[in-house]
Amino acid sequence: MKLIDPYVNLEKIDGIKMMKKIEKAGRTCYKSSVLSDNSYKKFISNIIGNGHESVLEHEKVTVVIGCDVGAYKDITRHRLASFSIESTRYCNYGKDKFGNELKFIRPCNIKEGTEEYKIWERTMLEIEKSYIELSNLGAKPDQLRMLLPHSTAAELVMTCNLREWRHVFKLRCSSHAHPSIRQFFIPLLLYFREVMPEVFNDVPYDEEFPKENYAKINLVEAE
Ligand SMILES: Cc1cc2nc3c(=O)[nH]c(=O)nc-3n(C[C@H](O)[C@H](O)[C@H](O)COP(=O)(O)OP(=O)(O)OC[C@H]3O[C@@H](n4cnc5c(N)ncnc54)[C@H](O)[C@@H]3O)c2cc1C
Repeated sequence: MKLIDPYVNLEKIDGIKMMKKIEKAGRTCYKSSVLSDNSYKKFISNIIGNGHESVLEHEKVTVVIGCDVGAYKDITRHRLASFSIESTRYCNYGKDKFGNELKFIRPCNIKEGTEEYKIWERTMLEIEKSYIELSNLGAKPDQLRMLLPHSTAAELVMTCNLREWRHVFKLRCSSHAHPSIRQFFIPLLLYFREVMPEVFNDVPYDEEFPKENYAKINLVEAE
């Protein structure tokens, strides 16, 4: 079996360009013009302060997230986001294409070397053994997936407009969210804050969450 850490891949965001587009769209409401190169800052702070957040829906961001099935079950509850998800109904991890092994997300809330970790690891190994055995007997992914636990790694693509991102971060970066979700959404929120401070600086997050557990945010050049 292979253990991996969660990750997020996304194209570098040109936050200023996005915020300027939002300002331009929003000023339609007042028939006013862009005042200066920096006027988007006050404009966006004002619309958020007034609860006029629909204007933020004019821009969206897409990310690729590698996480466990437990995390993706939770985040796909967000109905205003769009998802494409690696399907355990079509992927047979017992085949060469997948390295004939299961991939699990290393748990961030069970410490390596502890008794608890040993039990988790032993269980994953047993599940993998049974999965491969069933696969070798000719079982289809539809049948095989019934063995897969929440720790199974999977990839998904998630797209939201900026208003929905604010909402998702508020729920999923709080101490009430499962640690395996906070693990990738907190560092993603911190990146969004860096590139679009006027849109995301007021969104709170669990500041006590250990930084060493933050998932890697991989930025690629926009095509
Ligand atoms: C800490 C935590 C624990 C949770 N525990 C459970 C649990 O035990 N069991 C469980 O089933 N779920 C649970 N959930 C999921 C939760 O109930 C929501 O389904 C999920 O967080 C999506 O949130 P949302 O509906 O606000 O957001 P979205 O679906 O992203 O929608 C965004 C916003 O649009 C509006 N909206 C969307 N659809 C409608 C609609 N049909 N009618 C009116 N307004 C709408 C709402 O204002 C909503 O907040 C939990 C969530 C969190 C964060």
